[in-house]
Amino acid sequence: MAPLPTVAALLEAAQATVARADARVLLRHALQRDAAWLIAHADDAVAAGDAEEFRALIARRAAGAPVAYITGVREFYGRSFAVTPAVLIPRPESELLVELALARLPAGKASRVLDLGAGSGCVGVTIAAERPQAQVVLVDVSNSALDVARANAAQWAPANATLLHSDWYAALGDTRFDVIVSNPPYVAASDVHLQQGDLRFEPRTALAAGADGLRDLRQIIAHAPGHLGPGGWLLLEHGHDQAAACAQLLAAAGLKDLMVSPDLAGIARVSGGRSA
Ligand code: GLN
Repeated sequence: MAPLPTVAALLEAAQATVARADARVLLRHALQRDAAWLIAHADDAVAAGDAEEFRALIARRAAGAPVAYITGVREFYGRSFAVTPAVLIPRPESELLVELALARLPAGKASRVLDLGAGSGCVGVTIAAERPQAQVVLVDVSNSALDVARANAAQWAPANATLLHSDWYAALGDTRFDVIVSNPPYVAASDVHLQQGDLRFEPRTALAAGADGLRDLRQIIAHAPGHLGPGGWLLLEHGHDQAAACAQLLAAAGLKDLMVSPDLAGIARVSGGRSA
C-alpha cells in the first residue's frame, strides 16, 4: 500500500492545477482545519478518505468552479456568509457600500434600511448586525437567493433583518426608508468578463443589466424618491465606468448632495444622493 500523503505533499501536488492560496483554502475545507493548523502540521499524514475528498475539490476548482461555491462560504466584513450558485459571491468592493451606509446610520438610533437585490444578504445582513436598532428589509426577486439570505440573516441578525420577495420596489408598499442600498446587476450584457473566471458560474441575472449595464440602476434610481424618507440616502454600487451616468440619473430623480466614493482599487464604485 502506498504511504499516506502528507499535508505538504497534497498542497504541492495541487499547485500543478490550481493557485496555491486556493489549494490551501480547499485543504482546510476538506480537513475542517484552520490556516494555522495547516502550517503547524505540514508533515502530518492525511487519511486516505480526506486526501481523496481534497483531490475531488481540486478537480472542481481546476475545472473553473469558484472556491466560494465549492466551500459554500465567503468572508464578508468579518463574518462568514453562506453562498450557493444562486447568489453572487460577496466581493470586497461591497464592503464600501456597507461602510457608507453605516456612516449614515448613527449607532443606537432606530432607522429603516432597504437592501434591493440582496443576493446572499451580505450587505443588508451586515448592516443589520452592525446596527441592532435598525430594521433592515432585504428584497430579492429570486426565491433561491432569498433562501440563502434567510440563512445568513438567521445566523447574524435574527432580530432585525426581514426577507421579502420583490421585483425591486414592487412588493414594498408605502414604507419609507432612511437608507436604501443596492448592489444591483450592472455589467453590460456583451461584456467579455461574463465569459471569464468566476463570473461564468455566477447567476447571470445578478450580473448583467441590458446593453449598457444600466437597466436596473435606472429603475432603482428613478423610483427611489417614492421610498425614501426626508433626507434619506440612496447608495448604489456600480461599474468602473458608470459614475457619471449614475450622477446624471440621481440628479434627474431630484436627489441632492450627490456623492461618489472610490473602492480600495481607487475606482469610483459607490454613488449616492439624498432625498430633499
Ligand atoms: N463587481 C462585479 C464584477 O465582478 C459585478 C457585480 C454586479 O453586477 N453587481 O463585475
